[in-house]
Amino acid sequence: MKKLIATLCIAFAASTAGAYTPNKIVVPDVEGYKTLKCDFHLHTVFSDATVWPTTRVQEAVWEGLDAIAITDHIDTRHQKMVKNGYFNKEKCDRNTSFVLTKKAAEGTDLIVIHGGEITREMAPGHWNCIFVKDNEAIVNNAEKFNDDHFKAAKAGLKEAHKQGAFTFWNHPQWNKHAPNETKWYPEHTDLLKAGYMQGVEVYNGEYCPEAHGWALEHNLTIFANTDGHAPFFYEIDYLHGEHRPVTLVFAKERSEEGIREALDNQRTVAFAEGMIYGREDNVRALYDACVKIVDVKHTWRSTDITIENRSSIPLRFSKAPGSEMWSYTRDWEIAPNSVQTISVRALQKDHKYQEITAKEVDINLYVNTYLVGPNQPLKVNYKITRE
Ligand SMILES: [Zn+2]
Ligand SMILES: [Zn+2]
Repeated sequence: MKKLIATLCIAFAASTAGAYTPNKIVVPDVEGYKTLKCDFHLHTVFSDATVWPTTRVQEAVWEGLDAIAITDHIDTRHQKMVKNGYFNKEKCDRNTSFVLTKKAAEGTDLIVIHGGEITREMAPGHWNCIFVKDNEAIVNNAEKFNDDHFKAAKAGLKEAHKQGAFTFWNHPQWNKHAPNETKWYPEHTDLLKAGYMQGVEVYNGEYCPEAHGWALEHNLTIFANTDGHAPFFYEIDYLHGEHRPVTLVFAKERSEEGIREALDNQRTVAFAEGMIYGREDNVRALYDACVKIVDVKHTWRSTDITIENRSSIPLRFSKAPGSEMWSYTRDWEIAPNSVQTISVRALQKDHKYQEITAKEVDINLYVNTYLVGPNQPLKVNYKITRE
Protein backbone atom coordinates (compact mmCIF):
# COMPACT_ATOMS: atom_id res chain seq x y z
CA MET A 1 0.00 0.00 0.00
CA LYS A 2 2.80 2.34 0.92
CA LYS A 3 4.43 1.73 -2.41
CA LEU A 4 1.23 2.53 -4.29
CA ILE A 5 0.91 5.90 -2.53
CA ALA A 6 4.51 6.73 -3.40
CA THR A 7 3.92 5.88 -7.06
CA LEU A 8 0.78 8.02 -7.21
CA CYS A 9 2.60 10.97 -5.68
CA ILE A 10 5.36 10.78 -8.26
CA ALA A 11 2.83 10.59 -11.09
CA PHE A 12 1.01 13.63 -9.72
CA ALA A 13 4.23 15.59 -9.35
CA ALA A 14 5.28 14.76 -12.89
CA SER A 15 1.95 15.73 -14.39
CA THR A 16 1.93 19.14 -12.72
CA ALA A 17 5.59 20.06 -13.21
CA GLY A 18 5.76 23.49 -14.80
CA ALA A 19 1.98 23.65 -15.00
CA TYR A 20 -0.16 26.67 -14.20
CA THR A 21 -0.53 27.00 -10.43
CA PRO A 22 -3.75 28.73 -9.39
CA ASN A 23 -2.23 30.53 -6.39
CA LYS A 24 0.21 32.51 -8.59
CA ILE A 25 -0.86 35.66 -10.41
CA VAL A 26 0.15 35.26 -14.07
CA VAL A 27 0.60 38.43 -16.12
CA PRO A 28 3.05 38.56 -19.07
CA ASP A 29 5.55 41.35 -19.66
CA VAL A 30 4.30 44.21 -21.83
CA GLU A 31 6.29 45.42 -24.80
CA GLY A 32 9.52 47.03 -23.64
CA TYR A 33 8.86 46.51 -19.93
CA LYS A 34 8.73 43.87 -17.23
CA THR A 35 5.33 43.51 -15.59
CA LEU A 36 5.80 43.48 -11.81
CA LYS A 37 3.02 42.46 -9.41
CA CYS A 38 3.12 44.70 -6.35
CA ASP A 39 1.19 45.41 -3.17
CA PHE A 40 2.15 48.84 -1.85
CA HIS A 41 -0.11 48.93 1.22
CA LEU A 42 0.34 46.35 3.98
CA HIS A 43 0.07 46.37 7.75
CA THR A 44 1.61 44.24 10.49
CA VAL A 45 1.27 43.88 14.27
CA PHE A 46 3.51 46.95 14.52
CA SER A 47 0.36 49.02 14.00
CA ASP A 48 -3.13 47.47 14.07
CA ALA A 49 -2.89 44.27 11.98
CA THR A 50 -2.76 40.67 13.20
CA VAL A 51 0.23 39.52 11.16
CA TRP A 52 3.92 39.39 12.04
CA PRO A 53 6.15 40.90 9.28
CA THR A 54 7.62 37.54 8.22
CA THR A 55 4.15 36.30 7.23
CA ARG A 56 3.81 39.17 4.76
CA VAL A 57 6.88 37.82 2.95
CA GLN A 58 5.64 34.22 2.90
CA GLU A 59 2.24 35.28 1.55
CA ALA A 60 3.76 37.43 -1.19
CA VAL A 61 6.19 34.74 -2.33
CA TRP A 62 3.41 32.13 -2.39
CA GLU A 63 1.28 34.37 -4.60
CA GLY A 64 4.17 35.17 -6.97
CA LEU A 65 4.43 38.89 -6.15
CA ASP A 66 7.53 40.86 -7.14
CA ALA A 67 7.37 43.59 -4.50
CA ILE A 68 5.60 44.67 -1.33
CA ALA A 69 5.71 47.83 0.74
CA ILE A 70 5.20 47.70 4.50
CA THR A 71 3.09 50.73 5.38
CA ASP A 72 2.12 50.50 9.03
CA HIS A 73 0.14 53.36 10.52
CA ILE A 74 2.86 55.61 11.86
CA ASP A 75 0.66 57.85 13.99
CA THR A 76 -1.26 56.93 17.13
CA ARG A 77 -1.77 53.22 16.45
CA HIS A 78 1.91 52.38 16.77
CA GLN A 79 2.20 54.44 19.95
CA LYS A 80 -0.74 52.51 21.42
CA MET A 81 1.12 49.23 20.97
CA VAL A 82 4.16 50.66 22.77
CA LYS A 83 2.06 52.29 25.50
CA ASN A 84 0.23 49.03 26.14
CA GLY A 85 3.57 47.36 26.67
CA TYR A 86 3.47 45.05 23.65
CA PHE A 87 6.74 46.46 22.37
CA ASN A 88 9.87 47.60 24.09
CA LYS A 89 10.45 51.24 23.23
CA GLU A 90 14.21 50.75 23.35
CA LYS A 91 14.12 47.90 20.87
CA CYS A 92 11.57 48.99 18.31
CA ASP A 93 10.36 52.07 16.53
CA ARG A 94 8.28 52.92 13.48
CA ASN A 95 10.85 51.40 11.13
CA THR A 96 11.05 48.00 12.82
CA SER A 97 8.30 46.28 10.81
CA PHE A 98 10.18 47.16 7.61
CA VAL A 99 13.52 45.97 9.05
CA LEU A 100 12.01 42.59 10.04
CA THR A 101 10.23 42.18 6.69
CA LYS A 102 13.37 43.02 4.74
CA LYS A 103 15.34 40.49 6.79
CA ALA A 104 12.69 37.81 6.22
CA ALA A 105 12.90 38.38 2.47
CA GLU A 106 16.64 37.65 2.36
CA GLY A 107 17.23 34.67 0.10
CA THR A 108 13.98 35.25 -1.81
CA ASP A 109 13.37 37.33 -4.96
CA LEU A 110 10.86 39.54 -3.21
CA ILE A 111 11.58 43.29 -3.22
CA VAL A 112 10.62 44.96 0.08
CA ILE A 113 10.03 48.72 0.09
CA HIS A 114 10.16 50.88 3.22
CA GLY A 115 6.93 52.76 3.83
CA GLY A 116 4.47 54.18 6.31
CA GLU A 117 0.87 55.40 6.35
CA ILE A 118 0.06 58.88 7.63
CA THR A 119 -3.35 58.34 9.22
CA ARG A 120 -5.36 61.52 9.62
CA GLU A 121 -9.02 62.57 9.52
CA MET A 122 -10.60 63.73 6.25
CA ALA A 123 -9.49 66.04 4.83
CA PRO A 124 -6.77 65.08 3.92
CA GLY A 125 -7.41 61.44 5.05
CA HIS A 126 -4.80 58.68 4.86
CA TRP A 127 -1.58 58.96 2.87
CA ASN A 128 0.98 56.33 1.98
CA CYS A 129 4.64 57.26 1.89
CA ILE A 130 6.87 54.69 0.19
CA PHE A 131 10.63 54.72 -0.44
CA VAL A 132 11.03 56.48 2.90
CA LYS A 133 14.18 56.38 5.03
CA ASP A 134 12.91 57.12 8.56
CA ASN A 135 9.28 57.07 9.71
CA GLU A 136 10.24 58.55 13.10
CA ALA A 137 11.28 61.83 11.46
CA ILE A 138 8.02 61.91 9.45
CA VAL A 139 5.92 61.51 12.61
CA ASN A 140 7.98 63.98 14.60
CA ASN A 141 7.28 66.64 11.97
CA ALA A 142 3.59 65.78 11.78
CA GLU A 143 3.07 65.75 15.54
CA LYS A 144 4.08 69.38 15.90
CA PHE A 145 0.58 70.15 14.63
CA ASN A 146 -1.30 67.81 16.99
CA ASP A 147 -4.94 67.59 15.89
CA ASP A 148 -4.72 69.97 12.96
CA HIS A 149 -4.97 67.00 10.60
CA PHE A 150 -4.26 68.86 7.39
CA LYS A 151 -1.19 70.71 8.67
CA ALA A 152 0.11 67.57 10.37
CA ALA A 153 -0.27 65.43 7.23
CA LYS A 154 1.33 68.11 5.07
CA ALA A 155 4.30 68.41 7.44
CA GLY A 156 4.70 64.62 7.41
CA LEU A 157 4.51 64.51 3.62
CA LYS A 158 7.06 67.33 3.38
CA GLU A 159 9.52 65.36 5.51
CA ALA A 160 8.80 62.18 3.49
CA HIS A 161 9.68 64.06 0.30
CA LYS A 162 12.85 65.37 1.92
CA GLN A 163 13.75 61.69 2.31
CA GLY A 164 12.99 61.04 -1.37
CA ALA A 165 9.62 59.34 -0.86
CA PHE A 166 6.79 58.73 -3.31
CA THR A 167 3.44 59.66 -1.73
CA PHE A 168 -0.18 58.89 -2.62
CA TRP A 169 -3.75 59.25 -1.34
CA ASN A 170 -5.30 56.09 0.10
CA HIS A 171 -8.90 54.87 -0.19
CA PRO A 172 -10.69 58.18 -0.92
CA GLN A 173 -14.02 56.28 -0.92
CA TRP A 174 -13.61 54.70 2.55
CA ASN A 175 -16.93 54.83 4.38
CA LYS A 176 -15.49 56.61 7.41
CA HIS A 177 -14.03 59.35 5.20
CA ALA A 178 -16.83 59.50 2.64
CA PRO A 179 -20.11 58.44 4.27
CA ASN A 180 -22.30 59.84 1.50
CA GLU A 181 -20.11 60.67 -1.48
CA THR A 182 -16.47 60.46 -2.49
CA LYS A 183 -15.22 64.03 -2.42
CA TRP A 184 -12.16 65.98 -3.45
CA TYR A 185 -11.51 68.72 -0.86
CA PRO A 186 -9.57 72.01 -1.23
CA GLU A 187 -6.90 70.34 0.94
CA HIS A 188 -6.34 67.84 -1.86
CA THR A 189 -5.79 70.64 -4.38
CA ASP A 190 -3.25 72.09 -1.97
CA LEU A 191 -1.36 68.77 -1.65
CA LEU A 192 -1.52 68.23 -5.41
CA LYS A 193 -0.01 71.67 -6.04
CA ALA A 194 2.70 70.98 -3.44
CA GLY A 195 3.69 67.89 -5.43
CA TYR A 196 2.70 65.48 -2.65
CA MET A 197 -0.19 63.80 -4.45
CA GLN A 198 1.70 61.60 -6.91
CA GLY A 199 -0.83 58.82 -7.01
CA VAL A 200 -4.15 57.54 -5.72
CA GLU A 201 -5.68 54.19 -4.81
CA VAL A 202 -8.29 53.47 -7.46
CA TYR A 203 -9.00 50.18 -5.71
CA ASN A 204 -8.86 49.53 -1.97
CA GLY A 205 -11.57 47.11 -0.81
CA GLU A 206 -13.67 48.28 -3.76
CA TYR A 207 -13.36 50.19 -7.03
CA CYS A 208 -13.44 53.97 -6.69
CA PRO A 209 -14.54 55.43 -10.06
CA GLU A 210 -14.04 59.00 -8.77
CA ALA A 211 -10.38 58.21 -8.01
CA HIS A 212 -10.00 56.69 -11.48
CA GLY A 213 -11.29 59.97 -12.97
CA TRP A 214 -9.01 62.12 -10.77
CA ALA A 215 -6.00 59.99 -11.71
CA LEU A 216 -6.64 60.65 -15.41
CA GLU A 217 -7.38 64.34 -14.85
CA HIS A 218 -4.25 65.06 -12.76
CA ASN A 219 -1.88 62.46 -14.27
CA LEU A 220 -1.61 60.49 -11.01
CA THR A 221 -0.14 57.00 -10.67
CA ILE A 222 -2.90 54.40 -10.31
CA PHE A 223 -2.81 51.86 -7.47
CA ALA A 224 -4.74 48.79 -6.33
CA ASN A 225 -3.57 47.63 -2.92
CA THR A 226 -4.85 45.30 -0.25
CA ASP A 227 -4.43 47.45 2.88
CA GLY A 228 -4.09 43.96 4.41
CA HIS A 229 -4.64 43.72 8.16
CA ALA A 230 -5.52 39.99 8.48
CA PRO A 231 -3.64 36.96 7.10
CA PHE A 232 -4.60 36.61 3.42
CA PHE A 233 -5.52 32.94 3.75
CA TYR A 234 -8.57 34.09 5.71
CA GLU A 235 -9.59 36.61 3.10
CA ILE A 236 -8.77 35.18 -0.32
CA ASP A 237 -9.87 31.85 -1.81
CA TYR A 238 -6.64 31.13 -3.70
CA LEU A 239 -7.48 27.55 -4.59
CA HIS A 240 -10.53 28.71 -6.52
CA GLY A 241 -8.54 31.24 -8.52
CA GLU A 242 -9.06 34.33 -6.36
CA HIS A 243 -6.15 36.75 -5.89
CA ARG A 244 -5.31 39.73 -3.77
CA PRO A 245 -5.62 43.12 -5.51
CA VAL A 246 -2.28 44.20 -6.98
CA THR A 247 -0.73 47.16 -8.73
CA LEU A 248 0.84 46.00 -12.00
CA VAL A 249 4.00 48.03 -12.60
CA PHE A 250 5.60 48.24 -16.06
CA ALA A 251 9.27 48.59 -15.15
CA LYS A 252 12.44 48.89 -17.24
CA GLU A 253 14.12 46.53 -14.78
CA ARG A 254 13.06 44.28 -11.92
CA SER A 255 14.49 46.28 -9.02
CA GLU A 256 13.50 48.86 -6.44
CA GLU A 257 14.89 51.60 -8.74
CA GLY A 258 12.96 50.12 -11.68
CA ILE A 259 9.71 50.25 -9.70
CA ARG A 260 10.35 53.81 -8.60
CA GLU A 261 11.04 54.99 -12.16
CA ALA A 262 7.80 53.36 -13.37
CA LEU A 263 5.75 54.95 -10.55
CA ASP A 264 7.28 58.37 -11.31
CA ASN A 265 6.14 57.95 -14.92
CA GLN A 266 2.63 56.60 -14.20
CA ARG A 267 3.29 53.18 -15.80
CA THR A 268 0.88 51.17 -13.64
CA VAL A 269 -2.57 49.63 -13.78
CA ALA A 270 -4.77 48.32 -10.98
CA PHE A 271 -5.80 44.64 -11.06
CA ALA A 272 -8.51 43.64 -8.58
CA GLU A 273 -11.40 41.19 -8.50
CA GLY A 274 -10.92 40.24 -12.13
CA MET A 275 -10.87 43.85 -13.37
CA ILE A 276 -8.17 46.13 -14.78
CA TYR A 277 -8.31 49.90 -14.14
CA GLY A 278 -5.88 52.31 -15.71
CA ARG A 279 -4.94 54.93 -18.25
CA GLU A 280 -5.69 53.89 -21.82
CA ASP A 281 -2.09 53.54 -23.08
CA ASN A 282 -1.13 51.28 -20.16
CA VAL A 283 -4.34 49.25 -20.32
CA ARG A 284 -4.00 48.70 -24.08
CA ALA A 285 -0.34 47.64 -23.74
CA LEU A 286 -1.37 45.10 -21.12
CA TYR A 287 -4.25 43.81 -23.24
CA ASP A 288 -1.93 43.39 -26.24
CA ALA A 289 0.48 41.35 -24.09
CA CYS A 290 -2.21 39.13 -22.55
CA VAL A 291 -4.50 38.46 -25.50
CA LYS A 292 -3.28 36.77 -28.70
CA ILE A 293 -4.98 35.44 -31.80
CA VAL A 294 -3.50 31.96 -32.08
CA ASP A 295 -5.49 30.51 -35.01
CA VAL A 296 -7.72 31.69 -37.87
CA LYS A 297 -9.74 29.40 -40.14
CA HIS A 298 -11.91 30.46 -43.08
CA THR A 299 -14.90 28.71 -44.62
CA TRP A 300 -17.18 30.05 -47.36
CA ARG A 301 -19.57 31.41 -44.73
CA SER A 302 -17.40 32.11 -41.64
CA THR A 303 -14.07 33.17 -40.22
CA ASP A 304 -13.30 31.28 -37.01
CA ILE A 305 -10.86 33.06 -34.73
CA THR A 306 -9.20 31.39 -31.77
CA ILE A 307 -8.08 33.80 -29.06
CA GLU A 308 -5.83 32.92 -26.14
CA ASN A 309 -5.89 34.65 -22.75
CA ARG A 310 -2.33 34.33 -21.41
CA SER A 311 -3.02 35.83 -18.00
CA SER A 312 -4.92 35.60 -14.71
CA ILE A 313 -7.12 38.48 -15.89
CA PRO A 314 -10.54 37.26 -17.09
CA LEU A 315 -11.83 38.59 -20.41
CA ARG A 316 -15.45 39.64 -20.89
CA PHE A 317 -16.22 40.96 -24.36
CA SER A 318 -19.25 42.58 -25.88
CA LYS A 319 -19.87 43.63 -29.46
CA ALA A 320 -18.95 47.29 -30.05
CA PRO A 321 -20.18 49.64 -32.81
CA GLY A 322 -18.46 49.34 -36.21
CA SER A 323 -19.24 45.71 -37.03
CA GLU A 324 -22.83 46.09 -38.16
CA MET A 325 -22.08 44.02 -41.29
CA TRP A 326 -20.99 41.07 -39.18
CA SER A 327 -22.63 38.57 -36.92
CA TYR A 328 -20.92 37.12 -33.85
CA THR A 329 -21.75 36.44 -30.23
CA ARG A 330 -22.70 39.69 -28.56
CA ASP A 331 -21.36 38.83 -25.09
CA TRP A 332 -18.72 36.23 -24.34
CA GLU A 333 -15.87 35.41 -22.01
CA ILE A 334 -12.43 33.87 -21.99
CA ALA A 335 -11.39 32.56 -18.59
CA PRO A 336 -7.84 33.17 -17.31
CA ASN A 337 -5.16 31.04 -18.99
CA SER A 338 -7.48 29.52 -21.59
CA VAL A 339 -8.57 29.77 -25.24
CA GLN A 340 -11.88 30.39 -26.97
CA THR A 341 -12.98 30.35 -30.62
CA ILE A 342 -15.53 32.76 -32.03
CA SER A 343 -17.20 32.34 -35.36
CA VAL A 344 -17.75 35.49 -37.40
CA ARG A 345 -20.33 35.39 -40.19
CA ALA A 346 -21.86 37.82 -42.61
CA LEU A 347 -25.30 38.96 -41.52
CA GLN A 348 -28.01 36.53 -42.64
CA LYS A 349 -30.56 37.49 -45.22
CA ASP A 350 -33.86 35.60 -45.58
CA HIS A 351 -32.75 33.21 -42.81
CA LYS A 352 -29.95 31.89 -45.03
CA TYR A 353 -26.24 31.92 -44.41
CA GLN A 354 -24.47 34.35 -46.68
CA GLU A 355 -21.21 33.70 -48.45
CA ILE A 356 -18.49 36.06 -47.23
CA THR A 357 -17.27 38.09 -50.19
CA ALA A 358 -15.43 40.80 -48.27
CA LYS A 359 -11.63 40.56 -48.23
CA GLU A 360 -11.48 41.60 -44.62
CA VAL A 361 -13.48 40.76 -41.50
CA ASP A 362 -13.85 43.76 -39.19
CA ILE A 363 -14.41 42.98 -35.51
CA ASN A 364 -15.03 45.61 -32.86
CA LEU A 365 -15.19 44.66 -29.21
CA TYR A 366 -15.53 46.24 -25.81
CA VAL A 367 -13.31 44.55 -23.24
CA ASN A 368 -15.50 44.92 -20.17
CA THR A 369 -12.84 43.71 -17.74
CA TYR A 370 -10.30 46.34 -18.87
CA LEU A 371 -11.43 49.86 -17.91
CA VAL A 372 -9.70 52.95 -19.32
CA GLY A 373 -11.80 55.48 -17.39
CA PRO A 374 -14.59 55.47 -14.81
CA ASN A 375 -16.78 52.53 -15.91
CA GLN A 376 -15.46 52.91 -19.47
CA PRO A 377 -14.26 49.71 -21.22
CA LEU A 378 -11.30 49.45 -23.58
CA LYS A 379 -12.35 49.18 -27.24
CA VAL A 380 -10.37 46.90 -29.53
CA ASN A 381 -10.51 46.29 -33.27
CA TYR A 382 -9.36 43.27 -35.25
CA LYS A 383 -9.11 43.33 -39.04
CA ILE A 384 -8.69 39.76 -40.32
CA THR A 385 -7.77 39.28 -43.96
CA ARG A 386 -9.57 36.44 -45.75
CA GLU A 387 -7.10 34.62 -47.95
ZN1 LIG B 1 -5.80 53.88 5.68
ZN1 LIG C 1 -3.82 51.13 5.65
